[in-house]
Amino acid sequence: MTQATGAGRPSIGAGRLAHRLSRARHLAVEAGLDALLVGVGADLVYLSGYRALPLERLTMLVVPAHGRPSLVVPRLEAMAARAIPVVEAETVAVVPWDETDDPFALVAGLVERGAGDGGRPVAAVAVSDRLWATFVLHLQGALPAARFSLLSGVLRDERIVKDPDEVELLRAAARAADRVVEGIAHGRLIGRTEVDVSREVRDRLVSEGHDEASFAIVASGAWSASPHHQASDRVIRAGEPIVLDIGGSLGGYGSDITRTLWVTGGDPANGPDADFLAMYAVLREAQAAATREVRPDVPAEHIDAVAREIISAAGYGHAFIHRTGHGIGLEEHEDPYLVAGNPTPLRPGMAFSIEPGIYLEGRYGARIEDIVVCGEDGPIVLDTVTRDLLVVHG
Ligand code: ZN
Ligand code: ZN
Ligand code: ZN
Repeated sequence: MTQATGAGRPSIGAGRLAHRLSRARHLAVEAGLDALLVGVGADLVYLSGYRALPLERLTMLVVPAHGRPSLVVPRLEAMAARAIPVVEAETVAVVPWDETDDPFALVAGLVERGAGDGGRPVAAVAVSDRLWATFVLHLQGALPAARFSLLSGVLRDERIVKDPDEVELLRAAARAADRVVEGIAHGRLIGRTEVDVSREVRDRLVSEGHDEASFAIVASGAWSASPHHQASDRVIRAGEPIVLDIGGSLGGYGSDITRTLWVTGGDPANGPDADFLAMYAVLREAQAAATREVRPDVPAEHIDAVAREIISAAGYGHAFIHRTGHGIGLEEHEDPYLVAGNPTPLRPGMAFSIEPGIYLEGRYGARIEDIVVCGEDGPIVLDTVTRDLLVVHG
């Protein structure tokens, strides 16, 4: 169900969430699980729409094999929890706990009640993959007979395929990030520190509609060869490249784009040297070729291999030091990973980055990254900024 919001962007409505919950419960029962125990994070948002604070106090969605799911929350969060659509629709009950209660005993009681077969001990539960160890150990103490497994065993195949509303949110996020790249590329860069530009990127991501900016890599000069460079006090100069890799979340869904700039200060003598242009041409072809290969049933590792073969054939194989891409959705990095050894066949609706890079330590590097959705007939590229080297005045 698509609901219009103030910003006119799609949102995931209560009906869709209720469907996800009943599907998850069905898969849980099929897997012989008595309950799914979902802590704060992307799985909780996926199943309930609840973007809870990650607190030391336990917040947990309990999806039992039988009966209504419960959202166990600290009393002070109950008002926020009651406002979410699946609670208003009475699909999920809110169960608050007080400061002196034992929330783990509370969860164990809900699991036991929902396990059916009155009186038999709880045999198996799945916990969300990112649940903190402190919560897992307490839950194991409260459910001593239960076998614990990871929720991804149940939810991975659900979350990995995006529905049309999710794709539209990813597209809106991508377009917003595209506008930020264009704004930065057209703005002043020379004489500013990376940190200063990085702060501008974050501000722009939010003003373009992101809920939050998650990262803003501004890697100038020799730092462009360090893929996850933390913006530093280095001052940007004419005659050098900048790798700009930025993203955040919009409506809960991630953006993640990389473009490589070369700043000239307006003097053609400060343009990119022949080696850089040759390297960039190889990268450009590798990224394009990998993107062209996206279609249903192609193994994820094939996309990586296509990019890697082109880069290796040109003699830069040693300088392509990371996988070609990662899935994206409610999390910045999630399944499917485009990496050797991952045979997962692509399916329509899978969303991921395609981001080969070439890094010559001590000199410079470059990366090109788009978010791509696997369509029925081929790739749907969400980012629209040119993939050519952005030679700018700066
Ligand atoms: Zn990265
Ligand atoms: Zn990125
Ligand atoms: Zn990425």
